[in-house]
Amino acid sequence: MNSSMTRRNFLGSMTAAAAAGLAAPGLAMAAKAPEKWDKTVDFLIVGTGFAGLAAAIQGHEDGIKNILVIDKMPTAGGNSIINGGAVAAAGTDMQKAAGIKDNPDLLYADILKAGGGLAHPELARHIADSSVENYHWLKKQGVKFKAVTFHGGHSVPRSHAVMENSGAGFIRPMLAKCKEYGIPVQLRTILDEIVVDDKGAVLGIKARQNYRFGRDNSGKTVYIRALKGVLLAAGGFSRNVPMRMEHDPRLNEKFGSTNHPGATGEVLQAAQMIGANTVQMDWIQLGPWTSPDEEGFGLAPLFVEPAVGYGLMVDPATGKRFIQETGNRKVRADAIVAIEHPTIIYISEKNAMNKIYGKNMTPELFNRAVENGVVRKFENLKALADYYKIDYKTLKETNDKFDGYIKAQKDPEFNCMMFKDAVPNGDGPFYACRLWPRVHHTMGGLSITDKAQVKDAHLKVIPGLYAAGEITGGVHGMVRLGTVAVADCIIFGRTAAHTAAGKTSKL
Ligand SMILES: Cc1cc2nc3c(=O)[nH]c(=O)nc-3n(C[C@H](O)[C@H](O)[C@H](O)COP(=O)(O)OP(=O)(O)OC[C@H]3O[C@@H](n4cnc5c(N)ncnc54)[C@H](O)[C@@H]3O)c2cc1C
Repeated sequence: MNSSMTRRNFLGSMTAAAAAGLAAPGLAMAAKAPEKWDKTVDFLIVGTGFAGLAAAIQGHEDGIKNILVIDKMPTAGGNSIINGGAVAAAGTDMQKAAGIKDNPDLLYADILKAGGGLAHPELARHIADSSVENYHWLKKQGVKFKAVTFHGGHSVPRSHAVMENSGAGFIRPMLAKCKEYGIPVQLRTILDEIVVDDKGAVLGIKARQNYRFGRDNSGKTVYIRALKGVLLAAGGFSRNVPMRMEHDPRLNEKFGSTNHPGATGEVLQAAQMIGANTVQMDWIQLGPWTSPDEEGFGLAPLFVEPAVGYGLMVDPATGKRFIQETGNRKVRADAIVAIEHPTIIYISEKNAMNKIYGKNMTPELFNRAVENGVVRKFENLKALADYYKIDYKTLKETNDKFDGYIKAQKDPEFNCMMFKDAVPNGDGPFYACRLWPRVHHTMGGLSITDKAQVKDAHLKVIPGLYAAGEITGGVHGMVRLGTVAVADCIIFGRTAAHTAAGKTSKL
């Protein structure tokens, strides 16, 4: 587009071109406003994950009267309901009670560091500064926290885990709150296009009701007008193979995904069709803790995350460690992909019993992982080496060295974080798990302001359009830290509602 041409007159000229039958090839139009809208609401929210539901509740609390939440799937919750069930917050009462010193500046620094300097500072800052208030807000909504846990890449334990061990521990109380507030949550309703006026401001959406996921043309078309704006909270595109390959050609269909089947990115594309800007689309996160011995997210991550630093990761082909176990997700996933075959992590029973239970892994889930063969038990190092076809002598040297590092509380090889309560793994018994990464999170997405307004290609705000959660980009930069997505989605969902309600503060 000619740089002197604004998005407004671009849309205007495209409308004129279409009227003359001259639509540009391959460029879909924004939907035209209907003569009659089928429904009119104040605030329309697309998506029932963390971002969408948080926005609905905040919008109601900020005085927006007529809110509608839609979702294309037959059940609510998207990726959020299957998520690991912990939210980052820096400086809470739970951390203080556990003797953990933390503050928003440290969280901010960790987000920037993990993001390789690519996180947009004003967005990261908003998350860091709001995290404690957000934790209290969640408690007010009925979320019950049970423990503070550590995730790789954070300076201190600050992931606040919920009782339910999954994102359902956030989603269920938020759905209950929507019910209490009388906010309708309409499922099987898919957004197809965004409707704008001739100046490019968003009026509403074109959608289909009674849509059946997987049946392309199902459902009846409806036009929904949204007087105070539309919030796009439709999640990421991890499940859209051509779309992710367009940005990272390595991520072909051979890579599975941890995401729910509806993480397909078409709402992001609909926003692009009306001129929305995107950022950092090629930063797509692989989860380094998934196992090829099960599907999806599975149980392996619940075993692996608390095990890192107590147990060690080894390449079965060499019997040696190859990466900092407590490093961030990208560092670990890239290292495994470079090895080109599954690696293993193992931990002694002594360390496992101290560390694994009581966090996200319950004894029931752990037993299930062992029964399914995702986690395997070995009486000693020789049995483990034999099963994975690792040279025993080399593995013993690796194991002895790591035990030395635990004793010395320092790892001169890979600088793995050494925990004070770790004990040498010795000769077992051990628990072990195979690792192969899956596509987990799309860090790139729509470009937003720190008030959750969507920007156009000229970096101007598109009137009436908001976005929050995984559909947005620039919040995390190149690596998203574990449990920071939950904070991101909920804080920016709430912020979007706040802005739509006409509040001038961010939260
Ligand atoms: C298995 C798993 C575990 C995770 N664990 C953690 C963790 O422990 N900590 C952390 O910080 N992050 C974690 N994440 C990431 C985090 O859960 C997600 O980034 C977050 O849930 C995204 O929330 P969201 O509200 O943006 O989108 P979602 O929760 O994905 O919700 C988006 C909703 O929009 C709907 N939708 C999509 N397109 C349309 C359309 N065209 N019309 C209507 N509706 C549409 C979808 O059906 C979906 O229900 C995890 C992710 C996964 C998959």
